[in-house]
Amino acid sequence: MRLLVIEDEPDLLSLMGRAFERGGFVVDIASDLAQAAECLAIGRYDLLILDLNLPDGDGLSLLRQLRTRGSQLPVLVLTARDGVEDRVTGLDTGADDYLVKPFHITELNARIRALLRRPDAALGITLDLGNLVLDTKSRQVAAKAATVAMSVREVALLELLMRRQGAVVPRDLLEQGLYSFDSELGSNAMEVLVHEVRRKLAGADPTVCIHTVRGAGYLLADGG
Ligand code: CA
Repeated sequence: MRLLVIEDEPDLLSLMGRAFERGGFVVDIASDLAQAAECLAIGRYDLLILDLNLPDGDGLSLLRQLRTRGSQLPVLVLTARDGVEDRVTGLDTGADDYLVKPFHITELNARIRALLRRPDAALGITLDLGNLVLDTKSRQVAAKAATVAMSVREVALLELLMRRQGAVVPRDLLEQGLYSFDSELGSNAMEVLVHEVRRKLAGADPTVCIHTVRGAGYLLADGG
């Protein structure tokens, strides 16, 4: 799952970046509205975290543009403005949730999970297929009830495949969900990652299998 964080306070950015990466998210960062527009033009995001007081304008103007264009991207507004009126304006403009600074990072994480759980955005906390189970909150993977030790990125790959189980997931969509714009991506990075996930899963004897669909992407299916 890929997040775009639009925030201009460096300390808060690094705190959020660390917490989200631990949570298995890919995070892109924009510190003003101009950068945010660039990211939104080329990136595919699952959720937007939007500060309102930005150096080149008001975050609400970006939110208004998104909703005018019909975008249903979940948006969590983050701001120091604590007046009731600001909160109402934010929600009326199309924010899905609102968090007033200062906040606790665990609360922000919980709210993000809640937004991603909404029916049109995603599934529940626990994803399962065959005898494979992935807990999106604890980031634990288990096959036949035995835990499979995996890296943060390996779990993220499996999560993307499990959320679209039975369908071919295009390679570029996986790359978007797994790597931020500033990560150095080798040409065979995806093959290596898939290989590693397959190897770890094989040790746990799952009923599911990751199929390579040449020229298209990957498919997670249950062989029964
Ligand atoms: Ca700010």
